Amino acid sequence: MEELVKAQRDYFNSNATKPVEFRITQLQKLKGILKENTVQLNEAVFKDFGKGTFENIVTELFIIHQEIDDALKNLAKWAAVKPVETDGFNQPGESFIVPEPLGVSLIIGAWNYPLNLTLSPAVAAIAAGCTVVLKPSRQTEHCSKLMASLINNNFDPAFFTVVEGGRVETNALLEQQFDKIFFTGSVPVGKIVYQAAAKHLTPVTLELGGKSPAIVLPDADLQNAVRKLVWGKFINGGQTCIAPDYIYVHRSVETQFLQLLKDEIVRADYRIENNNYANIITVENTERLVNLIDQQKVVLGGGYDIEGRIIEPTVMTNVTWDDKIMQDEIFGPVLPVMTFEDLGNIISVIKQQAKPLALYLFTADDAATQRVLSEVSFGGGAINETIMHTANGALPFGGVGNSGTGNYHGEAGFRSFSHYKSVLKKPVSGEPDFRYPPHNDEKIAAVLSMI
Ligand code: NAD
Repeated sequence: MEELVKAQRDYFNSNATKPVEFRITQLQKLKGILKENTVQLNEAVFKDFGKGTFENIVTELFIIHQEIDDALKNLAKWAAVKPVETDGFNQPGESFIVPEPLGVSLIIGAWNYPLNLTLSPAVAAIAAGCTVVLKPSRQTEHCSKLMASLINNNFDPAFFTVVEGGRVETNALLEQQFDKIFFTGSVPVGKIVYQAAAKHLTPVTLELGGKSPAIVLPDADLQNAVRKLVWGKFINGGQTCIAPDYIYVHRSVETQFLQLLKDEIVRADYRIENNNYANIITVENTERLVNLIDQQKVVLGGGYDIEGRIIEPTVMTNVTWDDKIMQDEIFGPVLPVMTFEDLGNIISVIKQQAKPLALYLFTADDAATQRVLSEVSFGGGAINETIMHTANGALPFGGVGNSGTGNYHGEAGFRSFSHYKSVLKKPVSGEPDFRYPPHNDEKIAAVLSMI
């Protein structure tokens, strides 16, 4: 690891990554490799956890290609020196901001979107002019192997390389000094990464998880709400960091909402053999999820096959915060539904929890929307929609507080791998001698008049 990081540092210090043309060429090359290997990439994800081709293209490959295309189109603009105003004290003079790559970067990914969560930050890093060490999750071993072979056979490891492995390899990497660490994963491992980064004062982006609420107000279009909620919850077998973790539905529409919710799940016909449902990643995770299900409260689903790593789309009602399912991020296809009567009450309940990564609100009521947006802190979210905010590259994606720090996608990704160097440029003549001693009453009066 030490040698690898040294090689990348030497490469970075050679200035090879600085020209925008270099970065564009590398991104084009990556795009070509991904395109040529679309079938293999889909197969790898399928082998790892049974995820179907349509879902994989939409939630993994499409996003990475979109990130590359956005960077190819806008990179020259993002990387350009930005002139800014110069204040009165500094006249005559000019001021500008120089975006510069942070340097040698480490990207550690989660398994649940094994391609997107590693390659999208890598696109941002390359666009910014960094070198990249990429550490995919060991849990999705076919994807990890394929990415290692595609990248390590096509890129100079001193510029862009994949290191496969789990905890041991990650910890060995974390002992090295990087200029940027970008981590996607759980809160406990996020804390380990943050501590390791602190030793070298390395800047970090942490993309973490948590319990993301969905709120359905009485005026919501219930048909639209259930369609979006069911899609957002059960895509990827429920293993999505921004999936609606639980639902708060207004008591006055609960009965109708639950009926529509069940109808929509049945209509979607989620089954592995339909190519529209994914396996749970491991047997251990399947067991963990089964333990969270209270069969007394199940109104749909509840079936499972632990060795087969399958849990039926499951809905639980009459759920309270004392239930096991409400203690931690669910990260699986189990959907607890709770009811409420007063929006103010649930706002304060949500605010007592860790700040969520996402929040979804279903309503046509602008005042209620404004209230939720101004009173509740969360990473990002959507009104009358789920998940899709992540597909808009113009919206920075990231958490807040316990759900993460920093963000990426589009220019936000470029920024997270860049330092913005501020520069003041002065002419060598024509400067007033105002600020230099000796100071007299006249000068004091002049500065006093400015404040
Ligand atoms: P994880 O934290 O277990 O693993 C993430 C990465 O850290 C992997 O590459 C893994 O090899 C490594 N790792 C695991 N344990 C480690 C340790 N003790 N020391 C050093 N490295 C270690 O997370 P996961 O199970 O892969 O993913 C699920 C979590 O990620 C959920 O909490 C989910 O909400 C979150 N997530 C967040 C986002 C986001 O964008 N905010 C996206 C996807 C997943």
